[in-house]
Amino acid sequence: MRESYFWADQKAREILDRERYHYLDKAVPARGSYVVKTSASLSGVLHIGRLSDTIRADSIVTAMRDQGARARLIWVAEDTDPLRKIPEGIPAEYEKFLGMPVTDVPDPSGCHSSYAEHHQAEYMEVIGEFIANEVECYSTREEYRRGSFRPFIRKILERRDEVREILGRYRDSDLSPNWSPWKPICAQCGKVITPRLLEAEGTWVKYECRDYEFEKTVARGCGYIGEADATEDDGKLLWKSEWASEWALWDVSCEGGGKEYEVPTSAWWVNGEIVERILDYPMPTPFFYEMLLIDGKKMSASLGNVVYPSEWLKVAPPELLRFLYNKKLMKTRSFSWNELPRLYADYDNHAAVYYGEAVVPNEKERAHMRRLYEISQLRNPPDERPLSIDFSFASMISQIYDPKTRMPEAMEALKRSGVVGKELDIGDLEVIDGLLTRGINWIRMFVPDQALTLKEEPDPVIVGKLGEGEKRALGELARAIRERPDPDSIQTAVFSTAKDNGMKPGRLFQILYGLVLGQRSGPRLGPLVAAMGSGKIADLIEAAGRA
Ligand SMILES: [Zn+2]
Ligand SMILES: [Zn+2]
Repeated sequence: MRESYFWADQKAREILDRERYHYLDKAVPARGSYVVKTSASLSGVLHIGRLSDTIRADSIVTAMRDQGARARLIWVAEDTDPLRKIPEGIPAEYEKFLGMPVTDVPDPSGCHSSYAEHHQAEYMEVIGEFIANEVECYSTREEYRRGSFRPFIRKILERRDEVREILGRYRDSDLSPNWSPWKPICAQCGKVITPRLLEAEGTWVKYECRDYEFEKTVARGCGYIGEADATEDDGKLLWKSEWASEWALWDVSCEGGGKEYEVPTSAWWVNGEIVERILDYPMPTPFFYEMLLIDGKKMSASLGNVVYPSEWLKVAPPELLRFLYNKKLMKTRSFSWNELPRLYADYDNHAAVYYGEAVVPNEKERAHMRRLYEISQLRNPPDERPLSIDFSFASMISQIYDPKTRMPEAMEALKRSGVVGKELDIGDLEVIDGLLTRGINWIRMFVPDQALTLKEEPDPVIVGKLGEGEKRALGELARAIRERPDPDSIQTAVFSTAKDNGMKPGRLFQILYGLVLGQRSGPRLGPLVAAMGSGKIADLIEAAGRA
């Protein structure tokens, strides 16, 4: 493969070319296939921000396969993790489950065997809509139960002092003498967060089950005092050992993390040292990225700016989210709903370049745009470019003719406006239907203040400010529109009428957008007038000119 400027291709190359361990002077063994891991804790809500890791991991798998390597995508449910808070809409009695592994908490909806299974099912359904490659799913809790982590737990506990020493280099305070990287699950109440170690030796621990304070909640301990053995009993590794063991267990070559993991003191590097020095397994090649912000803020339920994947799909296709995430990795990505039409337009530009319909002289830029478009697809792009319509325009049409009830009229308006041809096949109709539906959803769900108000009568405020020459121009323009009602002629007529009457075209456009939409600007006027009905608009303009 030629040198690529696209981040996932570069990362794939880096993984395939990797020769040495990161911390040890040691060669990485040859591999027949590669694993890219993505994972999620199941305790929080599943919003579009949480798809970023998976979508990017998916892109790396594609890039590795495109370079002739065998690569697999795995998704791991971090489901031994405790329930930390009671999610919205869940009965308060769930408080008693705080601190339990999410696999052991019942499903509040009652449709699955546990809270974890419910969320995992939800996750998989959503992920399936947004990724291009098949994904294998695993659960840490299941692997603990099966004993898959035992060899790693043994090694880690055998060399506990070295692990302690590694951890010590990443923290300011000393670990307690009773510290152990393995924790039992309380044999009496089943909680994973509440057992405090009283003594620890080899694989054996003695513990007491005590209250544990999360940020905003408290997991109640049951007071039980017991003993447990890491090679037999129910428990889990601490995160700074567990992540390392996951890498070794699943033979992970690459995993992503938010940019907070890039700092040299993060859990990424602690686990990197543990996996190499203690488990003798090469640390995966990381990729770090910026989190998605909505209007410059982190998504959170309390801010009310959480975007669910199902909501995204009501206003944009999955390819558009893939496109957003596959742009440069380390760039703050703040998304605002006002900008959705711009994202669509950017995507369409990339499509035009991909299909050779738009020229980008710079070869690197062109190659990057083509690859970004290609990797944003869920399937191989079709031979011919699919129909596309400017999203702002589609959204405007959808407000005049609701696609649910007035689809034939909407279709006629699009034909009149010239943005689609007269002959449309089934595929085109699907595209149009999809765009109009998403257009109206976008206005109603996210930007209701941008809803169009179509003017039936000339606005007296605008009319009051018109000069004689401007009025004359409006009269002439109305006649010109009636004579030649096609979109291009209308567009041209605005310019020529302005010129003939000594006006700046910008001023005439401003008057027209004000009269027609009550706004200072809008989509291209020719197609707009044609779509709304040229006769009706000509009447409106003429009336303003006569007033
Ligand atoms: Zn369920
Ligand atoms: Zn307990």
